[in-house]
Amino acid sequence: MIGNLFIVAAPSGAGKTTLVRLLLENDPQIGVSISHTTRQPRQGEENGREYHFVDVPAFLEMVDRGGFLEWAEVHGNYYGTSKQWIASEMAAGRDVLLEIDWQGAQQVRKVFPEAIGIFVLPPSMPVLEARLSGRGTDSAEVIARRIAAARDEMRHVDEFDYVIINDDLQQASRDLQSVISACRLRYTNQRQRHTSLFASLL
Ligand code: ADP
Ligand code: 5GP
Repeated sequence: MIGNLFIVAAPSGAGKTTLVRLLLENDPQIGVSISHTTRQPRQGEENGREYHFVDVPAFLEMVDRGGFLEWAEVHGNYYGTSKQWIASEMAAGRDVLLEIDWQGAQQVRKVFPEAIGIFVLPPSMPVLEARLSGRGTDSAEVIARRIAAARDEMRHVDEFDYVIINDDLQQASRDLQSVISACRLRYTNQRQRHTSLFASLL
């Protein structure tokens, strides 16, 4: 049985890391891919937990080796999803979630057209700006760059299957959990998961 592949994208600051963290607390079965990045760690981030932090030559060497399922330059840094871990998780029937940008999502869909895309929107532009500043982890220059890029990211919302508006955090968290539960209940998934039940009933 093959696991489900979920892609979660959003403009920076919309709250996708927070939502994915809450999801994991309620649903430890889902595996979240840890990307490689050339960005500097933020305060509190640990190598191998939030990201694998690497330098540019190491990242480009991995690109040349064909080690990434997808990779892209986002806000002036490289980010990429390693192939190996995802393939083994999905082959073992486990669900995998990728937190990536729209460029990476387009590349993943070419390899896994059945991937389920979820886009997180903020309730307004001023709220997005307030969240980016309020997070307190980025310089004014980095924040300005991310605000400028937000509309470009959001223009790709129509390439995704589901849209979650992250206004009230608890509601948005329930919405994300509902999408994941509904995908697991699709006919093809249920038929594979409950082979003997289907055989006995049909
Ligand atoms: P992203 O991963 O999309 O860049 P984060 O998850 O880091 O965004 O969230 C950005 C900031 O907004 C964080 O400080 C987070 O605590 C806050 N935040 C996220 N969702 C909400 C929400 N629904 N209401 C209020 N604050 C939120
Ligand atoms: P941050 O620097 O805030 O952690 O992430 C910035 C952006 O990079 C986010 O929009 C996030 O989705 C994107 N991102 C994180 N990891 C990856 C990845 O592996 N591939 C791609 N394409 N984008 C990523």
